[in-house]
Amino acid sequence: MAASVYVCRRTGTDRLSLRGGGLIVGTEAGGAIERLVNEFGRLPGRGPKTAERLTHYLLATDKSEALALAEALRAIAEQVRPCRQCFNLTEGALCSICTDARRDASLICVVEQPRDLAALERAGTYKGLYHVLQGRLAPLENVGPEQLTVDSLIRRVQQGGIQEVILATNPTLEGDGTALYISNLLADTGVRVTRLARGLPSGSVLEFANSQMLVDALEGRRTF
Ligand SMILES: [Zn+2]
Repeated sequence: MAASVYVCRRTGTDRLSLRGGGLIVGTEAGGAIERLVNEFGRLPGRGPKTAERLTHYLLATDKSEALALAEALRAIAEQVRPCRQCFNLTEGALCSICTDARRDASLICVVEQPRDLAALERAGTYKGLYHVLQGRLAPLENVGPEQLTVDSLIRRVQQGGIQEVILATNPTLEGDGTALYISNLLADTGVRVTRLARGLPSGSVLEFANSQMLVDALEGRRTF
């Protein structure tokens, strides 16, 4: 095991960090340091070593930086909630997209998660509204329609004024199943239901595309 001694800038004291088994030797079991390492370790993509590194960084940095992070986390936990209409993340009753009069309110783009919405917004071409499902149908994980916001979507469409629903769930088995389920529910509404195109990513070359991408690209071809 590798041991390292470093000086905490905040307290000026020496601390001993001994890596191994996820326990930071020299700190109290169940104490503040271990608690923070455990919390960081729970974040996706963060292993125990990264969790330790982040904790040590915060211990060594200016106190105000750690408190600013704590305040940002508190604000996220207490103030951010799903938009009442589209379930995008917002600090108000309605999100900034739903309240933007310049957006085309006759279009609804259905996505799985707020991060999918963010990706489409970064692309900058879509000017309609959204509906965030908060997941996708996953029977093996016991995620059914009642765990999603499908009912709210159907109600939005039934209220009128919608011309097209774009199903932008991920092109996976579960994403496709979710899109199919929703398209069946919308079949009688008279609203146009579309699915995002799939196939070759821009900037790629045919030689390196996998066969499913090529099949999708051929099936989704359009007149030049
Ligand atoms: Zn909204």
